[in-house]
Formats: sequence, C-alpha cells, structure tokens
Amino acid sequence: MTAAAAPELAEAVCPVCSKPFIPGEAWQTLCVACWRLSRSIGTRPAPAGDLVARLVARIAVLESANADLRLAGTVIPEAMLWDLLDLCDPARHEGDLVAIGAVAWLHDQRRGGA
Ligand SMILES: [Zn+2]
Repeated sequence: MTAAAAPELAEAVCPVCSKPFIPGEAWQTLCVACWRLSRSIGTRPAPAGDLVARLVARIAVLESANADLRLAGTVIPEAMLWDLLDLCDPARHEGDLVAIGAVAWLHDQRRGGA
C-alpha cells in the first residue's frame, strides 16, 4: 500500500472536552491536551484481579454491618420519639384514628427499646 492510498482521518470530537480535533492516528480518541492530562493524572484502570479482590472484601464488610443492623433493630432516638408523640397526639387531630394508631405504635417502639 502506498502513502497516497492511506485513508484520511476525519475530524473527531474529544469525548472529554467536546472540542474537535484531527487524530494523527486512528487509535487516538482524545485530543492532545486531554490525552496529556489523562496520562499525568494516571487514569489507567486497576488490574481486574485487584479490583475483584477489593470488591469481595468490601462486600464482606457490608454484609457484616448489615447483620449488625438487623440484630440491633431500628431505634428512634428518645428526643425524636417524644417529638413524634407530641405531633401525633390524638387531641391535636380531633381523635383521628390514624393519630391514635400512630401513638400506639410509637409507644410500642419505646417499650421495644432498651
Ligand atoms: Zn479534549
């Protein structure tokens, strides 16, 4: 193949800065400025095996934390519980059944706590 037969490279748009550029080679996907920046900050991905090992370790930590939370149950802080009881006071809501149910539930949470 002669040099005259080489395909001309069309103008491309850099996906990072959105500026048009003329790639010197077909593999060039970034403009020169963005390519230099990506090289200087080291955007190469971590080796796949390292990433998998880190993700597996992270999953184990999260599963353990999740199990701890299940054992502890949901706890409404005491001050918030009193605020909620005050806000749900059936006297404020003309004896509304929803308010009565909410207060009963909130009292159950208090008994269920430590
Ligand atoms: Zn760019």
